[in-house]
Amino acid sequence: MSVDRSRLHIALQRSGRLSELSRDLLRDAGLRIETSKNALTARAANFPADLMFVRDDDIPTFVSDGVCEFGIVGQNVLHEFAAGTSEPGFEVLAELGFGQCSLRIAVPEREGYDGPRSLAGQRIATSYPRLLREWLDRKGVAADVVEMSGAVELAPRLEIAQSICDLVSTGATLEANGLRAVDTVLDSQAVLIRSRRPLDEARAAIADQLLGRIEGVIATKGSKYIMLNASSDALKGIVALLPGAEAPTVLPLHGRPGHFAVHAVCQESVFWDTLQKLKAAGASAILVVPIEKMMM
Ligand code: ATP
Ligand code: ZN
Repeated sequence: MSVDRSRLHIALQRSGRLSELSRDLLRDAGLRIETSKNALTARAANFPADLMFVRDDDIPTFVSDGVCEFGIVGQNVLHEFAAGTSEPGFEVLAELGFGQCSLRIAVPEREGYDGPRSLAGQRIATSYPRLLREWLDRKGVAADVVEMSGAVELAPRLEIAQSICDLVSTGATLEANGLRAVDTVLDSQAVLIRSRRPLDEARAAIADQLLGRIEGVIATKGSKYIMLNASSDALKGIVALLPGAEAPTVLPLHGRPGHFAVHAVCQESVFWDTLQKLKAAGASAILVVPIEKMMM
């Protein structure tokens, strides 16, 4: 396959926990992506970008080498790749708010744990040897790191190691294997990365456009538009209650002197108890509506 240098290339996980969510993000950014299940690449029909579907572990390499200008990957994979390199070939542009998990130390349930020094002299199994080694060094603990590419949680039972360092989201897998998480090496989520290789002017402009749209999608996700009515004496108290709203719009209500409509974009969730507080502070006709698109 020859690479079309007039288009952007975005590396995504082919199949796994991040693949659907990564595609959804690009779709929300307006890219029409038609893929068949086994496709290795896809063309956005309405935007000059091509997608490359690869194993998540390969994404940092693809982006660093400039094969793809953008990539979506978990911080865990990214940091393991970058550990020990002084100048990684990518930069992180945004945290994407999905793929949350933690790289955690876990020990058999019956074992005690009294901080990292409890691991001294142990064998610890992991798929993240560099991150674990860095963490152990930071804590001043000497231990053996046993690298495994999968099924790490079986290591203590198989007596390959005494403890493990693995990705956890709910902890159910650990529990099912008689382990408990005792320490955190890294909290992770999916991030958007960009190659440090310079782009020609035309593709730099496409890249900026894509980035602007993705930033808009991220901002929209957590945001709501709130509208309410208030009398002038209640305005100040009400505005102070609006979650994450900067400079709301205040408009006079026709035919009701001393009364105003307040409109604001709230960058945080708006909960029922916030609405109740607004009402108690004198707000009426409160509306909270979702925001479909946003460009800052
Ligand atoms: P690939 O075939 O692409 O190498 P994989 O098996 O390494 O796939 P997945 O299990 O699909 O990867 O996980 C992809 C990413 O999803 C992880 O690297 C991590 O960032 C994130 N993730 C979120 N929750 C979890 C979890 N509970 N366990 C593992 N990864 C998780
Ligand atoms: Zn992987």
